[in-house]
Amino acid sequence: MIIELYRAKSLIRHFAYTADIFFNPYQGCYHDCVYCRGKSDDYYLHEDFGDRIKVKINAPELLEKYFQSKGHFSSSNTHVTLDDFFSPSNNVIPSTKQPSKFMLFIGGGVCDVYQPAEKEFELTRQLLQHAHEYNFPVTIITKSDLVLRDLDLLQKINKDSYASVSVTITFADDEIREIFEPRSSSTQERYSALTILRKSGIHGGIYFVPVLPWIGDTEENMHSIYKMAKSSGAEYVVCGGLSLKPGKYKEDFMNTIKAHFSSLYSKYVQLYGNNNKYGYPDSSYVQKTGVIDPALKGYKMCKDYNLPYMIPRHIQQGLIEENVKWAESLYEIAHLKEDLLRGSWREVRDFRKSSAIVEVLRKPLSKMSRGEIQALPVPKISSTHILELATKGKSTYLEKLRNDVNTLV
Ligand code: SF4
Repeated sequence: MIIELYRAKSLIRHFAYTADIFFNPYQGCYHDCVYCRGKSDDYYLHEDFGDRIKVKINAPELLEKYFQSKGHFSSSNTHVTLDDFFSPSNNVIPSTKQPSKFMLFIGGGVCDVYQPAEKEFELTRQLLQHAHEYNFPVTIITKSDLVLRDLDLLQKINKDSYASVSVTITFADDEIREIFEPRSSSTQERYSALTILRKSGIHGGIYFVPVLPWIGDTEENMHSIYKMAKSSGAEYVVCGGLSLKPGKYKEDFMNTIKAHFSSLYSKYVQLYGNNNKYGYPDSSYVQKTGVIDPALKGYKMCKDYNLPYMIPRHIQQGLIEENVKWAESLYEIAHLKEDLLRGSWREVRDFRKSSAIVEVLRKPLSKMSRGEIQALPVPKISSTHILELATKGKSTYLEKLRNDVNTLV
C-alpha cells in the first residue's frame, strides 16, 4: 500500500436539496472490492485505487472550519462572546440557540473510512471527535470492524444527538466474500461488529449492496443475510443491485467472474452486454430470463422478516417530528418510484425535493392553512399529496404505490 499525505483545499460535499453534508478523509480504498464503483472512470479517482491511498491530513481542521463558518461553536470552547447568546433575528431576547444542525455522512463518496490506513492516521476518529464537540449527528457506512475502536465516541454522540452505522454485508459465505471483497473484514467480523454496535445502542443496519446476480441473490444467501439482520438487532436492510459502468473496472469484474464462476460468465456477458453508460443491466434480458430484481426481492424479504427496507429518518434537533414523518412518506414515494417501479427521474427528483422542503418547515403541516400549504415552494406534482398528508394524515398515492409493488413481488 502506498500512502500519500496531502493537505486538501476542500473537504465538504453537499447533498441536493438538504443541508446534510458528506466528506471523506481518504481517497482510494485498500479494501479493493472487485465491484467497487470508485474504480469506474467516472469517479476521476486515480487508477491504482486499491493500492495508493491519498490521506487528507487536514480533514478534521477543514470540518471544524466549516462548522465555524456556519455559526456553530464547540461545547469545549470557553471563549464564547456575548454575540453567541443573542439571536440574530431578535437582539432583545437572550438565546443560546445555534443554527440548525444537519447530518454528517462520514465516508460519503466511495472510500471506506475504516480501511487499514485509518488504524494509523485516526482521521475518522478525529472527525467523530469534532462531531461530538459540536454536537452533530453522524452516520457511517463500512465493511470493517475497526469501527468498534470508536465505540466510545459513537456512544457519546448517540447520547447527545444520533449516531448510526450501516455495515455492508453482501455474502454469507466467507469464501465468496473473499473473492469479491478480498481485503475487508470477514462476514463474521462484520456481523459481530453490527451486533456489538446495536447492543451498545448505536443505530444501524445492513447495507446489502450490491446483490450479485446468481451469486448474491440465491435463496440461501439472501435468507442468511436477513437472518443475520434479525439476530444482530439491525434496524433495516437496504438491498440493491449491481451496476457495471463500461471501462476497465468492468473488464476486471468480468474476468473475476470468468475465473471463479465460469458457468455464469456468458450470462453476465448478456446481462451487462448493453454497455449502458450508468452500468444498468439489460432490461430485456432481465425480463426474458427472470433474473431476480434485488430491490424487489429485498422489499419482500424485509416484509417477511419484519424489517424496514429504508433507513429510518433521524429527527434532528430543531425539526418538527410530524413534518419529518411526512417528509419520510414523500421520500418513500420517490424511493418506490425510483428503485422498484422505475418511474420517471423527474418525478423522483420532485418528490425528493418536496421531502426536503417539508422536513424543515417551521410549523407543523397539520396546523397550516390550505392557503399556506398551497403557497409552499414545492414542485407541483407533490402539492396535492402534501395537502392530503396535512389534512388526512395519510397518502393514498403512497398506499397505491405500495400495493403496486406488492403485486410485483
Ligand atoms: S469498501 Fe467500499 S469503497 Fe472500499 S473498495 Fe470496497 S466498495 Fe469500494
